[in-house]
Amino acid sequence: MEISIGKTKLKTITGDITTQSTDAIVNAANSGLMGGGGVDGAIHRAGGTAILEDCKKIIAKIGRLPTGEAVITTAGNMPSKHVIHTAGPVWHGGGQNEEKKLKNCYAESLKVAMDNGLKTIAFPSVSTGIYGYPVNRASDAAVEAVIDFIKKNPGALFEQVIFCGFDSNTEKEYARALKERI
Ligand code: ADP
Repeated sequence: MEISIGKTKLKTITGDITTQSTDAIVNAANSGLMGGGGVDGAIHRAGGTAILEDCKKIIAKIGRLPTGEAVITTAGNMPSKHVIHTAGPVWHGGGQNEEKKLKNCYAESLKVAMDNGLKTIAFPSVSTGIYGYPVNRASDAAVEAVIDFIKKNPGALFEQVIFCGFDSNTEKEYARALKERI
């Protein structure tokens, strides 16, 4: 599934984000930035120790990465050039500002990408694994946040933003969310 917003293509795929050859892939990290399970573990395994070294330097400076914010590191041995790490919200039922926090993850990741002049970026389905955010709601929030950012930042040079589901059901939800906003 693919749609265009101005000069930017928004695309959904099913697959392993660590194999994407984009300028950046996004990591659904946690505030400690020391690696973990799910996509975080896969990214650190595929990229090698250079990613953790960069993360340690960042943590030495900022202490912890607040939920909804994003930082950039090398992608180490992966085909992408950078990893943008964002800390998603844990799902508590929807009453604890989870939607706003999740949207911030996407907006802040795109801001970091824009500030670094990046053109292609792939997102996993942030917060919908271990953090328990329902994928139908997460896809709506993600797609809204990305479209909103692109419309508000015409100076960004994004050519392609990819929503990378790990399974076809996740991709379907992102495709539905995109179609509803054409
Ligand atoms: P969170 O803690 O933010 O919920 P998870 O890594 O547990 O993060 O899950 C986020 C999403 O990433 C889930 O949809 C999970 O299936 C998916 N995922 C796990 N491994 C990969 C991978 N290698 N590539 C793309 N997505 C992945």
